[in-house]
Amino acid sequence: MYPDSYYSATAIGIHNHPTLQGSQSADVCVIGGGYTGLSAALNLAEQGMDVVLLEAECIGFGASGRNGGLIGSGQRKDALEMEKQFGFEKSRQFWDFAEAAKTEIRERVAKHCIECDLQYGQIEAVHKKSYLGYAEDYAAALAERYDYPHARALSREEMRELVATDNFLEGLYDARAMSLHPLNYVLGLARAARDAGVRIFENSRVTGYTRKDPATISTDDGQVEASFIVLGCNGYLGKLEPRVAGKIMPINNFMIATEPLGEKRARQLIADRLCVHDTRFVVNYFRTSQDHRLLFGGGENYRPGFPSDIAAFVRPCMLEIFPQLDGVGIDYAWGGTLSVTVNRLPHFGRLQPNLFFAQGYSGHGVALSNFAGKIIAEAIAGTADRFDIMASLPIHTFPGGTLLRYPGMVLGMLFFSLRDRL
Ligand SMILES: Cc1cc2nc3c(=O)[nH]c(=O)nc-3n(C[C@H](O)[C@H](O)[C@H](O)COP(=O)(O)OP(=O)(O)OC[C@H]3O[C@@H](n4cnc5c(N)ncnc54)[C@H](O)[C@@H]3O)c2cc1C
Repeated sequence: MYPDSYYSATAIGIHNHPTLQGSQSADVCVIGGGYTGLSAALNLAEQGMDVVLLEAECIGFGASGRNGGLIGSGQRKDALEMEKQFGFEKSRQFWDFAEAAKTEIRERVAKHCIECDLQYGQIEAVHKKSYLGYAEDYAAALAERYDYPHARALSREEMRELVATDNFLEGLYDARAMSLHPLNYVLGLARAARDAGVRIFENSRVTGYTRKDPATISTDDGQVEASFIVLGCNGYLGKLEPRVAGKIMPINNFMIATEPLGEKRARQLIADRLCVHDTRFVVNYFRTSQDHRLLFGGGENYRPGFPSDIAAFVRPCMLEIFPQLDGVGIDYAWGGTLSVTVNRLPHFGRLQPNLFFAQGYSGHGVALSNFAGKIIAEAIAGTADRFDIMASLPIHTFPGGTLLRYPGMVLGMLFFSLRDRL
């Protein structure tokens, strides 16, 4: 069952897939029916592989059906930080991969006619004096060194013209970053995967698998024998794979959708249906929907379970930016779980020759998880160059491992949130 959200209320093409019963065999068994799993399954099936996909709940049940829908350029760490850490050449390579991730989504939407309200134009909104000048420097670096002339700095006045708030000091406009309806996109991927021959099973939680070749993947009611396993469980991994669980921290993030504001008011609030995210450590992100609501994400927690009143939790973040929305009704409020890594770089790897995984996209996963699926499929087909480069990113284990990572994270997040306000 999908959580009650704006996305589930406006979903197109929900399809009920059977539960796995008895035995199946396949070239590849994909675990997880979000972007990572479906992108891998679809790309593999297009290469002629026989694929079974097992999803514990329903397609897009996880973060892929609940997120802000923002498709940013580059990696979660900006290209200048990447340069400092890895040097220009590597940074450029990771930038190009992120561009390939955007292309993958654009091409999938076009090829499979996915109705997911794909929109162009994103603003990074600067909230703090000490970040002034960043937008101009970054846009110049992207144009000069990354062949990316699509970003430009926005002055405070230009920001105000595009987003009706005094909250931001300047902005970085990116004409080629995008947004979409996340659930409708993942449902479209599932349709494309089915059409390509992928056998999808829902309500089929994997309880374990053997470390052999071929591997046996078990659920309560069935099993799959497969030469390869792809693990795409991200923040919902739980205890399934202890060898990678300690590298990620599942965190919960929350969103609200206002009542419809009417076309004129929605356009006055945010021009051109741009999507916006700010520079706060716990990021606020927002955009207007096709039916002229404000979709606003903000606030997170670092323990299992959501606040009992999500609307009350997120609303103050929205009102801090848009005080004029005081009194506007909130029609939907929901949360989801994503996973972050210690250094906010994604975690790709191979646990044994026939088991590939990707996780820990750290809030930048709409683009990267789709790319992950594509390059896992490439690697299984025998060309692992791009996968191996992504897998070379250094990812540390959270201090305290899976048992003690939460208290450390809470302290760290409190520190950064406080610093944000100073
Ligand atoms: C509220 C929110 C807002 C976000 N906003 C953005 C954004 O604007 N931009 C952005 O880039 N990123 C955003 N993200 C992050 C982004 O959504 C994720 O990085 C991305 O969706 C990850 O996709 P995935 O397929 O790896 O994982 P998921 O979509 O979480 O899918 C994992 C799936 O695995 C299944 N699963 C787990 N265990 C098992 C098992 N044992 N057997 C079978 N199936 C299993 C789960 O049920 C789930 O469906 C946001 C996340 C949240 C929660």
